[in-house]
Amino acid sequence: MTPVSKSDSIIIVGAGAFGLSTALHLAQAGYRNITVFDKGAEIPSPFSAANDVNKILREALEAWKTPLFAPHYHQTGFLHCVSEAAPQKAVNTLNSFRASAERHPEVRKHIVPIDSRDDIIGAVRQFQDGSLPGWKGYLNQYDGYAHSSNALKAVHEACIALGVQFILGEAGDIAEILYETPTDHANHQTRKATGIRTRQNTTHNATLVIIAAGASAPNLIPSLGTQIVARSWSIAHIQLSAAEASSLRGIPVTYARDLGFLFEPEPATGLLKLCPMGGGFVNTDPATGVSRPPDALADSGFVPAGDGRRLRRLLAQTLPGLADRPFVGERLCWFADTADSDYIVDYVPDTSRSVVLLSGDSGHGFKMFPIVGSWVRSLLEEGDGNQKVLRWRWKSPAVDLAGNWGDAVSWRVGSSEEFRDIRASRS
Ligand SMILES: Cc1cc2nc3c(=O)[nH]c(=O)nc-3n(C[C@H](O)[C@H](O)[C@H](O)COP(=O)(O)OP(=O)(O)OC[C@H]3O[C@@H](n4cnc5c(N)ncnc54)[C@H](O)[C@@H]3O)c2cc1C
Repeated sequence: MTPVSKSDSIIIVGAGAFGLSTALHLAQAGYRNITVFDKGAEIPSPFSAANDVNKILREALEAWKTPLFAPHYHQTGFLHCVSEAAPQKAVNTLNSFRASAERHPEVRKHIVPIDSRDDIIGAVRQFQDGSLPGWKGYLNQYDGYAHSSNALKAVHEACIALGVQFILGEAGDIAEILYETPTDHANHQTRKATGIRTRQNTTHNATLVIIAAGASAPNLIPSLGTQIVARSWSIAHIQLSAAEASSLRGIPVTYARDLGFLFEPEPATGLLKLCPMGGGFVNTDPATGVSRPPDALADSGFVPAGDGRRLRRLLAQTLPGLADRPFVGERLCWFADTADSDYIVDYVPDTSRSVVLLSGDSGHGFKMFPIVGSWVRSLLEEGDGNQKVLRWRWKSPAVDLAGNWGDAVSWRVGSSEEFRDIRASRS
């Protein structure tokens, strides 16, 4: 039996990728009393990991071609390589992606093998000045990227049209979930959520509370412990002139697994986005072992020196004419990481199915933006209240590596560093 009826009140905390998608799917399914709260004053929220110009898409591509999402999907292709300096781990990951693409009957026809610099120049003429030393991999012409902040805006507008209410900014900053006091808490009688309290001390009642607060989820669900680790990666951009930007129109998402990736410049602004790949940065509270994003956005407004050097190498090898251009819009972007890189889409234990957690994007969740909300709807409407997809269940605290799994994750290169250390080395 579903824990909510179509007229019951549903609160969603977080209007990032997961929260907006959930509001959309539930509203489309006829739930008519949905309120979304976000501490950002507008959509996209400046606190959202999806507040960005581009995100790589490699899954859910059919959903990205539907009318609401298609304007934000750019099928430029995905050039997926390693450079000559790549560690064996990165080469192995690349080879396993390439083998899997070449095995797949539908994907195979879109794959161009890249075994030399000439193969790259043949496919992407804009890289003709690049040294591309030892770059090998493949070009998948079916993949591409999404303009993530524009996609968020479009879904926000669609939700408003469907009657979803939004409370944004200070009035939407949630301090805690409220619960009925259990009569016998000592014997673990389960609690039931009654709503939420904002930092301005206003309460809002609800039958169901859905937490989609990304990397900040542990602030609202302390029992998460270290299942979710707030981790950040760097983002930087370079400013191009209109002519430079148009000369790079249509370049594929270009990813050297040992260096990072870059995208087609945004036509409206001429910004070319760069993102280094690595184990990322955690912000661990020594007392609890829990990593949380820093409160103030300004604290994350820089790119650590090592990442900056990797991005310079990426540019020097691909677009050397831009290699010394100053970076703009530098920042660390926080996401919710799990040890197995899988999402959590489940009821929070001991809440009588009154609280759903939607998190653990692990830095690759935006691609699922068009469909995440359908998973929440299935959880609410199908089955016995147990998440059927085992890997999306509330995770056992036994998987607790205190967040230091950056290097253990098969698809990443490099170890985690503590935010306080990189911050200190900056000043
Ligand atoms: C550098 C970087 C690059 C990435 N690249 C890709 C990529 O190429 N492809 C891809 O698929 N994914 C990518 N991702 C991951 C993608 O951005 C995330 O998977 C996605 O944004 C997760 O959505 P979310 O809704 O869980 O969290 P978010 O989008 O972060 O949204 C969480 C929301 O909760 C709000 N919030 C938090 N706490 C509160 C509170 N107490 N009260 C009210 N509101 C609150 C925030 O304001 C925010 O809007 C990348 C992430 C980073 C950091």
